[in-house]
Amino acid sequence: MKDTAMENVDGYAQITEPSMCMCGMNASMRTSWTENNPGRRFLGCSLYGRPDACDYFKWVDPIVHPRYKSVINGLLRNANRKDVLEKKLQRMLMYYRILLAMVVMVLLSYWEITSDNYLDFIKEYVVGIGPWKDNMVPVSGNYIETPSDFVARAHVQNLQVSRI
Ligand SMILES: [Zn+2]
Repeated sequence: MKDTAMENVDGYAQITEPSMCMCGMNASMRTSWTENNPGRRFLGCSLYGRPDACDYFKWVDPIVHPRYKSVINGLLRNANRKDVLEKKLQRMLMYYRILLAMVVMVLLSYWEITSDNYLDFIKEYVVGIGPWKDNMVPVSGNYIETPSDFVARAHVQNLQVSRI
């Protein structure tokens, strides 16, 4: 950004030609976002942040009016709060997606290993199966429910069923 011909406000830091820093390079203009100088532009060494940068520093804009200062800081705080909430929400959504994917994977594999196709497949390798008893007779709140057709379907495939 060229820092020539800056219009001055209240006669503050009028810049009419490029400012050189102590390194002999054109100073670069940046904007401060500190509590005390929110939105206030300044010139600094273009090597700022590097160990060989010089200490050149010059305000471009006048002091921030106390009223504007509190308004701008208030807006910044609100924006930050919104940002934090949005990030939290994004993270929660990501966890829910992972959880959902895991549930789908568990349900799919359960559905797959109890399917007729799978029973038909394993009967070539085993004489019987030993399913978890809840797969044969589901339990809900300490009460047994209607037995599933799993045992019957295994018998159709000539598979023995032993309870484990
Ligand atoms: Zn410099």
